[in-house]
Amino acid sequence: MSILVTGGAGYIGSCAVAALKEKGYEVVVVDNLSKGHKQAVGDVKLYIGSVGDETFMHKVFTENKIDAVMHFAAFSLVGESMLHPYEYYNNNVAQSMHLFHSMIEHGVKNVVFSSTAATYGEPEENPISEETPQHPINTYGQTKLAIEDMLKWFGVAYGLNSMSLRYFNVAGAHPSGNIGEDHNPETHLIPIILQVALGKREKLSVFGNDYPTKDGTCIRDYIHVMDLAQAHILAMEYMLKNNCSDEFNLGSGGGYSNLEILNAARKVTGCEIPSVFEDRRPGDPPVLVATSEKAERILGWHRQYGIEDIIASAFAWHKAHPNGYDE
Ligand code: UDP
Repeated sequence: MSILVTGGAGYIGSCAVAALKEKGYEVVVVDNLSKGHKQAVGDVKLYIGSVGDETFMHKVFTENKIDAVMHFAAFSLVGESMLHPYEYYNNNVAQSMHLFHSMIEHGVKNVVFSSTAATYGEPEENPISEETPQHPINTYGQTKLAIEDMLKWFGVAYGLNSMSLRYFNVAGAHPSGNIGEDHNPETHLIPIILQVALGKREKLSVFGNDYPTKDGTCIRDYIHVMDLAQAHILAMEYMLKNNCSDEFNLGSGGGYSNLEILNAARKVTGCEIPSVFEDRRPGDPPVLVATSEKAERILGWHRQYGIEDIIASAFAWHKAHPNGYDE
């Protein structure tokens, strides 16, 4: 069985490629390498181009018999999305629309879609279930919700099956220590903490200590990237077997405050990791925690990794690749 992974040179996509290969799937990657890294793809067949270029995708779909698509390719930075909504609507919504159109034209009717907790905005309830109303508060979340909605209508009209997976905070690295997070600029909490641990940054700025939480810092729900990759495979297999569409939250069912993450990283790395409090970062909801009960019940998904495993695997990656893939 052959799976097309869009954005397969990116952080989460490349970990999914590795997990698919480990499970015996044939994999084809499409990535325009605007954010991704060629080295992250390994020996998998890579097409360099845009998922929204229907001429290019015609070549991909005619040269390969694809059974399902995992669609990771997207821009995913909240702050950037607020400054550049045109680029976000174009790169996320418009390009996805052309990808789905190409799929339908070539009779490929199954897609696993990378959605996000950002589609929920500032929910009134925590933990967040799939029934929690989706009211995004930033352009990034809004573009992902627009794609979820598009998939529903494409399902009704064209019989396109889709699994929309709403991720919470993804971190960690492949157990080999050779596939991991390499963003430029880096904005995420765990990689930044580890860059401080490794002396690549002077200190961590903790954004806000006056939130209505136990220690005043934001609470997030962290999931290991390899647990996330397994969830994609389970969702794809379920969709292919049952010829259906659905949506699932993927988190851990529990949350950690930013200070708890900092302390866990100090413990795992044995490093001091200096920190200072700074103002809140605009657009940060105080608490985002998922219930993943639905994915566990329906997909049979079981997380293997806890927060210390997440930090330890990310630390191993950053130690082995202090400059990311550019060595
Ligand atoms: N955060 C922080 N300092 C940083 C980066 C992030 O205090 O240098 C906080 C951020 O404000 C949020 C949490 O860490 O409360 C998680 O942020 P991240 O960007 O990792 O993920 P998000 O939840 O925004 O997807």
